Amino acid sequence: MIELSHISKTYPNGTHALYDVNLHVDKGEFVFIVGSSGAGKSTLLKLITCEEKADGGKLTVNGQDLISIKRHEVPYLRRTMGMVFQDFRLIAKMTVFENVAFAMHIVGASRREIRKRVPYILGLVNLQSKADCYPAELSGGEQQRVGLARALVNNPNMIIADEPTGNIDPALSFEIVDLLSEINLRGTTILMVTHEHSLVKHFQKRIVEIHGGRIVADTNELGAATL
Ligand code: ADP
Ligand code: ADP
Repeated sequence: MIELSHISKTYPNGTHALYDVNLHVDKGEFVFIVGSSGAGKSTLLKLITCEEKADGGKLTVNGQDLISIKRHEVPYLRRTMGMVFQDFRLIAKMTVFENVAFAMHIVGASRREIRKRVPYILGLVNLQSKADCYPAELSGGEQQRVGLARALVNNPNMIIADEPTGNIDPALSFEIVDLLSEINLRGTTILMVTHEHSLVKHFQKRIVEIHGGRIVADTNELGAATL
């Protein structure tokens, strides 16, 4: 599903963010990406979502070659991914329902489909009762559940989450990862960047550790090193 082979990334200012990274993620995996600040975690996600281009090497996502991808093809790639951000990125002037509906609207869903699907997805993240609230009226954990609902509503085959629990209380962080685990059990691949050791310890998943732009450890959910 995701395949990086000899991937490096140099930013225009000369910063080498990643060096010769090799990574293979199968459909249905749940991968934590860990490492200190500046290690290259966000850069790795940005290459996968096509927000940044790799220097060279081989990078494919869902069979699509991202080294030679054309700009007009990127939106189609993104439709296969749900993205979740540390700062939620909800639209303040829209209700919870409207925030999730908007994600369907921009990919051309009909009003009928939206009316049917949004309540179902809000149910999955347990926010039916907050459908008419505005983001500012919700807790951080609730706002992130809206972020998750929005990421899920177009039925992506993977969720890419960059520090999704970075702005919420530790207790609620577990709830978010619990939800991601449930989503994963239904077959969606999850890539989640985090620096919270307690989460990584509690949810026994594959852990890819990045240090100085290189993958320095890769352990499967049983704790066995595979690098
Ligand atoms: P211990 O000291 O018991 O080995 P650690 O707190 O060092 O435990 O690590 C706990 C888990 O978190 C380990 O599975 C480890 O692989 C993982 N881990 C390592 N580095 C990081 C990091 N920077 N951020 C989050 N988790 C990490
Ligand atoms: P992490 O997510 O692990 O904190 P990043 O991938 O954000 O790390 O950053 C890796 C390195 O690349 C850091 O040295 C960072 O300063 C640098 N970097 C990130 N984004 C840019 C950018 N747009 N331009 C130049 N350097 C960048």
